[in-house]
Amino acid sequence: MKIDVLTLFPAMFAGPLDESIIKRARSAGLLDLALHQLRDWTHDRHKTVDDRPFGGGPGMLLKPEPIFEAVESLARENTRVILLSPSGRKFEQSIARELAQQEHLLFVTGHYEGFDERIREMLAHDELSIGDYVLTNGALPAMVIIDAVTRLLPGVLGDEASVVDESFSQGLLEYPQYTRPAEFRGRKVPETLVSGNHAEIARWRLAQAKVRTQARRPDLI
Ligand code: SAM
Repeated sequence: MKIDVLTLFPAMFAGPLDESIIKRARSAGLLDLALHQLRDWTHDRHKTVDDRPFGGGPGMLLKPEPIFEAVESLARENTRVILLSPSGRKFEQSIARELAQQEHLLFVTGHYEGFDERIREMLAHDELSIGDYVLTNGALPAMVIIDAVTRLLPGVLGDEASVVDESFSQGLLEYPQYTRPAEFRGRKVPETLVSGNHAEIARWRLAQAKVRTQARRPDLI
């Protein structure tokens, strides 16, 4: 998959997307990630990307011209242009699965008070929020989504089964899990899990996932 990110802060991406599973996905060519500095599409001496809102009000807005130029030069026929914004539809695992099917994603990240509305109306195929809170800019939301999508790409995780049973995949939270030792500080691993009876284990896990989801996230059921 190819992912382009349009940002005022490419340096913020160093680190989170250069470690562990995402790093391996990039080295293996499963994720082709490119960061683009929005100011590279300005034409004035000050590399201006923002301006005051018509009608007044606090702060500055990202102006349309550099973003239109950037998106028009980076987008291809199969590109899905995604605006990051607290007003977008709320990102969740089902959207990560949907995005993992795409060939090319282009994330447009905001700053200041956000975007001139024409960017939203004329350029974006989708607008995503990572939750009901406001961050200073769209770099972290873009990284969150890129991480969630990349781990779903075929070949990225060592064991493909990991994404089948995990939280949200079956509409449930994940069941409790244990590793060795079988007893730790007086607390034993549930009998069923050490029984070797795989049918019993599967039943126990499903029941536990339902109990946990009902208790913590009844909205998912
Ligand atoms: N004035 C905007 C509002 O009230 O919705 C908030 C702008 S925010 C300070 C600046 C940028 O950060 C946004 O344009 C967006 O790209 C990004 N951002 C902040 N919070 C976000 C969230 N929860 N989800 C996605 N993007 C977010």
